Amino acid sequence: VMILLKSEREIRCMREAGRIVALALDAVGKVVEPGITTQELDEVARRTIVEHGARPAFKGLYGFPANICVSVNCEVVHGIPGSRKLAEGDIVSVDCGAEIDGFNGDSAITIPVGIVSPEIARLIEETRNALYKGIEQAIAGNRVGAISHAVQTYAEKAGFGVVREYVGHGIGRSMHEEPEVPNFGFADRGPLLKAGMVLAIEPMINLGARAVKSTDDGWTVVTRDGKPSAHFEHTVAIMPDGPEILTRLA
Ligand code: MG
Ligand code: MG
Repeated sequence: VMILLKSEREIRCMREAGRIVALALDAVGKVVEPGITTQELDEVARRTIVEHGARPAFKGLYGFPANICVSVNCEVVHGIPGSRKLAEGDIVSVDCGAEIDGFNGDSAITIPVGIVSPEIARLIEETRNALYKGIEQAIAGNRVGAISHAVQTYAEKAGFGVVREYVGHGIGRSMHEEPEVPNFGFADRGPLLKAGMVLAIEPMINLGARAVKSTDDGWTVVTRDGKPSAHFEHTVAIMPDGPEILTRLA
């Protein structure tokens, strides 16, 4: 496995990419309400990214047709924005990437639309918690599996299904670099973490069973049982003194 280490200067660039992603997700979060279309969310993200001098990094990535991924309810990841209107009680996962000065940031959040049921509110809350359990393990000297194991054990203890077919990843000049960062596995497995590595950690957690399937549009991934799914992601730099979240507003 070839894992690229980032210099101080490169991590400074990635802080800026991460900050712009965080601003875009913050802007999207502020406009989510019943009646808005997923295409309108895409436009809010695009405008925020370009206003800050960056490029929407998902546009055209592997041929993806939009600026952000927008996945509603049973959609897990890679949903394509369009004319669908969000409704009260929905949840919407927004995954956003931006590139500036040759470096990428990648982050996702799941947002409730109006008031959601208590079980769905708990799914959102615990998926965010699972992400932070993983981030706590992003420490030089641990193995990638420490992150994976922390996410899996936390989410499964909460009673949820942990998606295995899609995983986190290294990130830098490319949106997806080595290593893979699964959301399941053993703590003592996988590549050794070193200062200068930057990882996108991204649990995808299902209210029901973990099984997922792809759909006819060629992109959208949904839960097999049709129950809701949540997704949180941060781009995290492994610094000598611990993890630094790059996609968080200061
Ligand atoms: Mg992402
Ligand atoms: Mg990612």
